Amino acid sequence: MEVKVIGGGLAGCECAYQIAKRGIKVKLFEMKPLKRSDAHHSDALAEVVCSNSFKGNELTNACGLLKEELRTLDSLLIGCADKNRVDAGNALAVDREAFSKAVTDEIRRNPYIEVVCDVVSDIGDGFTAVCTGPLTDDALIPAMKAHTGEFLYFFDAAAPIVTADSIDYDKAFFMNRYNKGTPDYLNCPMDKEEYFTFLDALLNAQTAPVKDFEKKAVFESCMPVEIMAARGADTLRFGPLKPVGLDTDKKHYAVLQLRREKTGGELYNLVGFQTHLTFPEQKRVFSLIPALKNAEFVRYGVMHKNVFINAPELLDDSFALKSQPNVYFCGQISGVEGYVESIASGLVAGIDIARRLTGKNSVAFPTNCVIGALADYISHAEGAHFQPMNANFGLLPYLDCRDKIKKKELLAQRSLENLKHFIQSNEIL
Ligand SMILES: Cc1cc2nc3c(=O)[nH]c(=O)nc-3n(C[C@H](O)[C@H](O)[C@H](O)COP(=O)(O)OP(=O)(O)OC[C@H]3O[C@@H](n4cnc5c(N)ncnc54)[C@H](O)[C@@H]3O)c2cc1C
Repeated sequence: MEVKVIGGGLAGCECAYQIAKRGIKVKLFEMKPLKRSDAHHSDALAEVVCSNSFKGNELTNACGLLKEELRTLDSLLIGCADKNRVDAGNALAVDREAFSKAVTDEIRRNPYIEVVCDVVSDIGDGFTAVCTGPLTDDALIPAMKAHTGEFLYFFDAAAPIVTADSIDYDKAFFMNRYNKGTPDYLNCPMDKEEYFTFLDALLNAQTAPVKDFEKKAVFESCMPVEIMAARGADTLRFGPLKPVGLDTDKKHYAVLQLRREKTGGELYNLVGFQTHLTFPEQKRVFSLIPALKNAEFVRYGVMHKNVFINAPELLDDSFALKSQPNVYFCGQISGVEGYVESIASGLVAGIDIARRLTGKNSVAFPTNCVIGALADYISHAEGAHFQPMNANFGLLPYLDCRDKIKKKELLAQRSLENLKHFIQSNEIL
């Protein structure tokens, strides 16, 4: 039996390595150097397309904890990142060329992996992992659509997400417009003075640079909140800050609504606040909304071209299609967001494929560690509003501790213990 992995990026290389490590042959298809996306420049596998940072490395950072979980699971790519790191304070940043070369060398010398240079246009129905990333080549789109139906999105215009316990509930209230249905929305009102302070900061905030290929694809179809604001002083009050139907004992001048991001209510999404502000500016400007003064942002808003599938409708918690379990989608295309998260999804899918091909049962990673919680989110989030998700502590089950730092330490300890127990009891390594 031979497995096909399409895409030799971060997810694809990790996936291929995990399958090969378990004695199964893999054909890894990569279109470079035959063809490159607008964001890929090198001919190496596992190219780091933008920032060279793999984000925080400490266990009190959810992405740092995810990296430690990946080390425990013998991730090839995190191992190569550790060996090729450059100084970056508490973050794990890499020498991008040395990192990609290290991964490419490991993959090419692996006797179980054959790298095939091809622009793939067919998925087939044998064991296949589609890891073609957010800039998947157009040649594969018709085949992907055949497997995913209409559940394929082309733009990632995501609004920021904050943790529930960082919101000031004295300055917010639960209510649906016109009191319809159960009060699911958390409303963050502003008076006139607060609104104009916010508007002024928003209009003068710094935006992230836009790549040429993103301009047409993204901004024409989905308007960032700062561009909307520039159209007139009241535009936002007729858009995402519309106060209508939300009067309590007093009339509000503008109201931002937060929508639950996770069923347990640990995370909230800033409704309609897709934005292209830089991450520090998002924190500074959105924290001017009184209820969000001390908000902890677990994901910032992003806007870039990004092909991803509606994973909750389509995938199980091993990244396999529910309708066709031999076909897996992992990496950014599966709806995880970020380098490390893409690697993690490739690892989960690779282990699952190898287990199934060696007569072992498919096991879901535990949801009380970050890698399992992310897989669980991807497969069980609400499909109607699905947007890519990165590693964050809000995905983990609740832990009662008021001290924020201590809480993160306890969550990290709990995650690593659970993962080790899971590895042992299911013979994962
Ligand atoms: C412009 C941009 C900037 C980003 N910046 C960051 C960042 O700074 N930090 C961060 O954490 N995340 C960032 N991301 C998000 C994400 O983490 C990266 O895109 C990451 O590389 C995703 O890994 P992947 O394995 O899913 O895809 P990729 O690493 O892109 O790998 C996909 C591979 O598939 C190949 N391929 C595509 N189509 C085909 C085909 N039909 N046949 C054969 N091969 C094919 C490609 O050549 C590529 O090598 C960014 C994304 C984009 C688009």
